[in-house]
Amino acid sequence: MKKTPFVNLEQIQEITKTYPTPFHLYDEKGIRENAARLYDAFSWNKGFKEYFAVKATPNPFILQILQEYGCGCDCSSLTELMMADACGFSGRDIMFSSNDTPAEEFAFARKIGATINLDDITHIDFLEQICGIPEVISCRYNPGGIFKISNDIMDNPGEAKYGFTTEQLFEGMRILRDKGVKEFGLHAFLASNTVTNEYYPLLAKVLFETAVKLHEELGIHIGFINLSGGIGIPYRPDQEPNDIYEISRGVKKVYDEILVPAGMGDVSLCTELGRYMLAPYGCLVTKAIHEKHTHKEYIGVDACAANLMRPAMYGAYHHITVLGKEDAPCDHKYDVTGSLCENNDKFAVDRMLPEIEIGDYLVIHDTGAHGYSMGYNYNGRLRSAELLLKEDGSVKMIRRAETPRDYFATFDFTGLFKH
Ligand SMILES: *Cc1c(COP(=O)(O)O)cnc(C)c1O
Repeated sequence: MKKTPFVNLEQIQEITKTYPTPFHLYDEKGIRENAARLYDAFSWNKGFKEYFAVKATPNPFILQILQEYGCGCDCSSLTELMMADACGFSGRDIMFSSNDTPAEEFAFARKIGATINLDDITHIDFLEQICGIPEVISCRYNPGGIFKISNDIMDNPGEAKYGFTTEQLFEGMRILRDKGVKEFGLHAFLASNTVTNEYYPLLAKVLFETAVKLHEELGIHIGFINLSGGIGIPYRPDQEPNDIYEISRGVKKVYDEILVPAGMGDVSLCTELGRYMLAPYGCLVTKAIHEKHTHKEYIGVDACAANLMRPAMYGAYHHITVLGKEDAPCDHKYDVTGSLCENNDKFAVDRMLPEIEIGDYLVIHDTGAHGYSMGYNYNGRLRSAELLLKEDGSVKMIRRAETPRDYFATFDFTGLFKH
């Protein structure tokens, strides 16, 4: 499928009159339609709730858009909890799915009434000593082994640091029951960025069967089952997007087969999607500022891996559109690079693109999740602004770009940098 950006050259020419490149731009309309679709697809489950994985796009304006559809927040650190709290999420609207958790973060989560999703059996005692055991708690399950769909290996939970083993899960929930927990949640995240409609139904089957056993063996009330994140998006033009209705039907089928006959037809489902909620509805807009002809053909842009780390970190593919040249033939092979003193600072390697001239705007697709948020300050590079393209076509700045003052702020005790 051809990938088309949600903005065109004229819009970007207008936006750059006010906001210089590079910047991340988000498509409010796309975000809203997708959130509504998710809730519609899962409307058969009465308690369904999406806890947006804050780490994907930690921006209060984005969180507040999702909040309008009933989404909560999935947090994994103190500052994420603080952001959720500041945005008006509270109590059952916040899931705290962390691991290797510092004591003060458990204490803060408990204080704001977040649902704690424990990552390990030893955290039961740890939590109890810090702030006591709440009446509602969730546990993260890791069945180990290799997670396969047909013959395709999806991921390798046996190598993942997260979660309780099966034995620990039964033992842990028994201990928690005896300590007075009234309602339990069960969570697992077994594969990431899955571009298949089969992942959630397969995961649901594992979790539902486990939940029935827990309920029967321990006599506990499982209130919610959390399918977590992992629904992917088609970063490449040849990938078929997931169909959330098909996914939901697959989950409903196993729900009806496993939970309903066990008398557990009241279990609420929840998700902690990040990528699926935001990735396609954000892009990184950057300008070609250099061309270089050496052993290869290079285009140097004004963004770098500090603005988008995925290609440098995992060789991730991000589609690129040269604005105004959407229909031009892709007959030039380029490496598209940033300025970091790191040779992996390349948004694309050997990519066929239309001929690029200096001053051309490039749209790097699908950066709405795990894009800005993975940014960093290597080489003293500063993080860009985040802009929201509103439904009426206007643009709102939802985070300003960093300035040198931000970069030097952690030396504010020295008096060296006077602004
Ligand atoms: C990262 C993460 C998510 C979101 O993952 P996506 O791949 O963005 O859907 C959800 N839950 C937990 C616990 C995570 O760590």
